[in-house]
Amino acid sequence: MRKGFSRLRYAEYMLSDEWRSKKVDFFRKLTSEGRYSCASCGRNPYQLKESGDYLTVHHLTYARFGDESMEDLQLLCSVCHRRLTKEERKRRKARRQSRLDRAWKRKKRLG
Ligand SMILES: [Zn+2]
Repeated sequence: MRKGFSRLRYAEYMLSDEWRSKKVDFFRKLTSEGRYSCASCGRNPYQLKESGDYLTVHHLTYARFGDESMEDLQLLCSVCHRRLTKEERKRRKARRQSRLDRAWKRKKRLG
């Protein structure tokens, strides 16, 4: 597994045995620490089951993508994970837009 991030590599990695076994390690660690519940809303698998939701692994950072340490990961329920991903996407989009705006203003000043 090479380091670094791309959409393709992400998709490949998510299907790999490597990632699967890392998730198992992560689940085991949290279970042994009595933290096997959503880090955001605190619901455990039994509480989630009723609504058909489940626990997922969230990347807090992609800095070590493919070679993550346990600290790079966070346990979230499917509801919180979806919400967070949406918020992150919105933030990324806003950042990109403000970068474009700045570049455009700079260009106008110089032009
Ligand atoms: Zn949650």
